Amino acid sequence: MTPAASPDLDTLLLQDRFSRDDLITLLGITAQDERQRLFERADAVRHAFVGDEVHLRGIIEISNECERHCMYCGIRADNNGLPRYRMTPDEIVRTATAVADMNVHTIVLQSGEAASYTSGELAGAIREIRRHTDAALTLSFGEWDGDAYQMWFDAGADRYLLKHETINPVLFKRIKPDSDLDHRIGCLYELKRIGYQVGTGNIVGLPGQTLADIADDILFCRELEADMSTFGPFIASPFTPFAGESNGSVELSLTTIAVARLVLRDAHIPANTAIATLDPHGRERALQCGANVVMPNFTPSLHRVHYQIYPHRKCITDEPTVCNVCIRGMIHGLGRTVAGHPGHSLKQSAH
Ligand code: SAH
Repeated sequence: MTPAASPDLDTLLLQDRFSRDDLITLLGITAQDERQRLFERADAVRHAFVGDEVHLRGIIEISNECERHCMYCGIRADNNGLPRYRMTPDEIVRTATAVADMNVHTIVLQSGEAASYTSGELAGAIREIRRHTDAALTLSFGEWDGDAYQMWFDAGADRYLLKHETINPVLFKRIKPDSDLDHRIGCLYELKRIGYQVGTGNIVGLPGQTLADIADDILFCRELEADMSTFGPFIASPFTPFAGESNGSVELSLTTIAVARLVLRDAHIPANTAIATLDPHGRERALQCGANVVMPNFTPSLHRVHYQIYPHRKCITDEPTVCNVCIRGMIHGLGRTVAGHPGHSLKQSAH
């Protein structure tokens, strides 16, 4: 079937409650001019609902130790050749404070899933960061129990990023064989119940994924009322079972961001590192079709090269200070501003 004829496309783009079929149609757009109209509409919706400010979320990958066997991920337990590291709580606090001193108003701490730290050790680091800075603090440590989530929230964490990866249970089992979709979704609802601003999202172009799956991922973000939603391409990672698969498409990832902006409206949506890795202009392009967040990497260079979830990550060897300047320049070049505040959730439900 050919994509919707032009007048129908405009009707489709301008509505405010999208059905699953609408999403599948929009995600299936391939004609250049139609994609351009979709991107322009998404950019206008972004402007209307979240404004022209771009939020920087400085990410620090505190440990690459992981006991899981996610089929796509380069830090999976079986990747024996990868040197493993674990930043000490002191090192985490020092790095986070230095990032906040660079006028980055959100710090994201991310790690693999292993017994690298006790929940209490992490709570201690969170409390110290909170004492030193009023930057927002996002955690992305994967699936833990409710008590740990509560302890970290009480210690001063504001947000939690836990991508659902795919909402299709069959595909989920194939890509995360030792995880359970219902459990992961349960974590997201628990995090919300505790009071975190919650980020979730999918991977675009997973082997065997359909456009309907991606539509369902976006609808799940709507149902969860996620404060942030991220959609990034799959990148085939060496030393994983998916090493020989094709990378996800940048075009489909950008289309997904645009469609997600139409549906999710006031959610934060990042121009993520995976898009920037596959396309040198990926960040700029994403910011022009719906995205309003960039996540520069501030992991100390010594460790960063070993947080190899996928190869050739954008800015993998750049000095954080250089990255900070370069990203700000890119944002200004687009006629946008860099937010001078933490950029908390804009969702009514978060207040
Ligand atoms: N352990 C944490 C953090 C995982 S790494 C957790 O489970 O939430 C952060 C994100 O990197 C993952 O959520 C996944 O979506 C993404 N990722 C990992 N490997 C990838 C790959 N090969 N291609 C694209 N994205 C990948």
